[in-house]
Amino acid sequence: MKLYPLFADLSRRAVLVVGGGAVAERKVAALLGAGAQVTVNAPLLTPALQQWVADGRVAYRSESFREGWLDRVWLVVAATSDVELNRLIATFAELRRIFVNVVDDAALSSFHVPAVIDRSPLVIAISSGGEAPMLARLLRERLETLLDHSLGGLATLAARLRTRIRARCPDMATRRRFYERLFAGRVATLLRQGQPDAAWQEAESALLASPEVMAGSVVLVGAGPGDPGLLTLRALRALNEADVILHDRLVSAEVLELARRDAERIEVGKQAGHHHATQDGIHALLLQHARAGRRVVRLKGGDPFVFGRGGEELEFLRDHGIPYEVVPGITAALACAAYAGVPLTHRDYAQSVRLITGHCQSSHDRPDWAALARERQTLAVYMGVAELGALQAGLIAHGRASSTPFALIENGSRAEQRVITGMLSNLVERATFHGVHSPALLILGEVAALAPSLAWFGQPPLGATVHPIHAPERCEPAAVDVLAAVHRA
Ligand code: SAH
Repeated sequence: MKLYPLFADLSRRAVLVVGGGAVAERKVAALLGAGAQVTVNAPLLTPALQQWVADGRVAYRSESFREGWLDRVWLVVAATSDVELNRLIATFAELRRIFVNVVDDAALSSFHVPAVIDRSPLVIAISSGGEAPMLARLLRERLETLLDHSLGGLATLAARLRTRIRARCPDMATRRRFYERLFAGRVATLLRQGQPDAAWQEAESALLASPEVMAGSVVLVGAGPGDPGLLTLRALRALNEADVILHDRLVSAEVLELARRDAERIEVGKQAGHHHATQDGIHALLLQHARAGRRVVRLKGGDPFVFGRGGEELEFLRDHGIPYEVVPGITAALACAAYAGVPLTHRDYAQSVRLITGHCQSSHDRPDWAALARERQTLAVYMGVAELGALQAGLIAHGRASSTPFALIENGSRAEQRVITGMLSNLVERATFHGVHSPALLILGEVAALAPSLAWFGQPPLGATVHPIHAPERCEPAAVDVLAAVHRA
């Protein structure tokens, strides 16, 4: 079946809906939304339909369907559970050349109702020609998440400016470029932030300036810990709109995979041995690309404001007058805790959590050991594995019990995730034994004892070494698995 897509103007046009159940109610709601004059015909109505009738929004006929009613309507919807009646309505409609939709019967319908993404005045309609409505619905859900709600406002703004844009950019190529920038740039950002007036001003000044040059901008985006499923929708949209992506080494390949195909990707990881490796180098790149009018995404592992120097980059952008936005990400502590089955706070074990970095030597002040060593609090330590020794010694020296449990999570949320558990006294020994490498996050505190029983992702935690001699002669299958995991490690 081949369908001709069309959008119908039903405002103030009569439409008949036969049926008074939940399906009819949904159809009536959509028709009212389009401004149609709806008559419902059914012996019984749902409460919502009754309400609309009582409010005078919908006309009502309770007697049985009469073919003559079709003479006065533009469309008819048959939404009854009576197959024969539906067929009859379809036949009469066909004779009168009125379009009919028989709910759940593609063959009897002369028009179909698509799955819709509504960003009025922009509307996207999806049809599978009645063959796979479920698939159309799934696709709709996917598009819903990708398309920001501010698109409607953008379409209205573009409509109001249309004549002026045409006059300002008479040739097609310039006009196209102008629209592309209008839709992806600062104007769209302001609309997203609920500032239509500022967006309008921005669009006007863009028109007054040279239409070829529109200001670039930077979006500071948190890419999360690695699992692309932990990206936010806003992050995904920013990646879809980017012209250039400056990313850290920590950002996973799977996340980069989701970015717009023709976006330029530049790795600025400080350990990458790259010539842009310094913070000043990164600043210079941000400035260069934004000044060239590009949409720059500065993509950082985890959250940009947690040990990510995001603050410094914003200060720099502010000082240079480059507009920016920030999209938070799931920081390593939250992701590693979740993926290792370690609740960071727990009524019985920890009332607070501290996010700290183990890079003590480079920081200006000495760590407040007494505060860090306090009991019943969780420490989430972002660090290189090399700093574990100093941390272990410092905490024990300041009174944290050497039996305090830990979970060390390497490659948290990624397929290669490993979780090593133990207690403060054997932290370094266990990390060395398992050859833990970066990126790894340490969770230290009473809550870490929950890891072995709450773990759900990837391989089970690597607990204290079990020597085969001490193992019972007959193992339950589950116990054998644990031993095998320990031996593999
Ligand atoms: N802004 C980032 C942190 C950057 S500091 C965030 O919010 O997560 C870099 C440190 O983060 C690493 O040394 C490591 O301790 C931690 N980290 C980042 N991703 C990680 C991951 N997938 N697994 C374990 N630790 C991670």
